[in-house]
Amino acid sequence: MLKPVVHAVLCAAALVVLPAWAQTPEVTLTRLDCGTGFNDPRRFSDTFAYTDDKKPFTFSCYLIKHGSDYMVWDTGYLPGSVPNATNKPLADLLKQINVNPDQVKFVGISHFHADHTGQLLPFANATLLIGKGDWDGVTANPPAQGANMTGFKVWIAEKRKVEPLSMDKDVFGDGSVVVLRTPGHTPGHSSLLVRLKDKGPVILIGDLAHFQENYEANGVPGFNYDRAQTIASLERIKQIEKNLKATVIIQHDPRHIGKLPAFPAAAR
Ligand SMILES: [Zn+2]
Repeated sequence: MLKPVVHAVLCAAALVVLPAWAQTPEVTLTRLDCGTGFNDPRRFSDTFAYTDDKKPFTFSCYLIKHGSDYMVWDTGYLPGSVPNATNKPLADLLKQINVNPDQVKFVGISHFHADHTGQLLPFANATLLIGKGDWDGVTANPPAQGANMTGFKVWIAEKRKVEPLSMDKDVFGDGSVVVLRTPGHTPGHSSLLVRLKDKGPVILIGDLAHFQENYEANGVPGFNYDRAQTIASLERIKQIEKNLKATVIIQHDPRHIGKLPAFPAAAR
């Protein structure tokens, strides 16, 4: 039988609910090379902001480790599929850091274009996290313009797990990894917030902007799905960047590669 005073202390302790953040296991973020080359920047402005015809582009994929769970964010080009697809297979890169694609629990993609969905195939056990607008575009008949049907073919045929997102998604339920709705580039375009203990919050913005100048100027490519949505999404991310003092990473801008440690190292 506990003495009343000890009993009271234990009961009080049992009532303490730790904030979700305090229960978060270690989270790490690794950048993987998923292509390198050039693009014509004039295509990326609907207000004729650029006159150069060549700008270096990089293509980035990411691995998030949350405790013992893995998530991949964007899967890059299928190696060799186009001149910019200079990358090694994503599965090979993951094996270099001792991750088997079968272990990956979630594959989040920013949007349905080929340079982000070229290597979905190896992740047979994962749940695909994709904006509902993009999933609707992939499954429509005929599919939405720009949807990389080759990349999704097996996922659809094998009825692999899909979670189409119409709202933000707190992936692990502790606020450390959150898919953010940032529509405009495509109907269901998404970004990813990863809150790291040492580095602080990082936002991977998919193709919300393709390079720094467009991010700063709220520039919109002429081929975007919706201009007003793009600008609203840019404003949203800039507010989050300010409020959380977050590091924003433009996935196609080679100048942003250095914001994370070089592979195989991970940001923590
Ligand atoms: Zn795109």
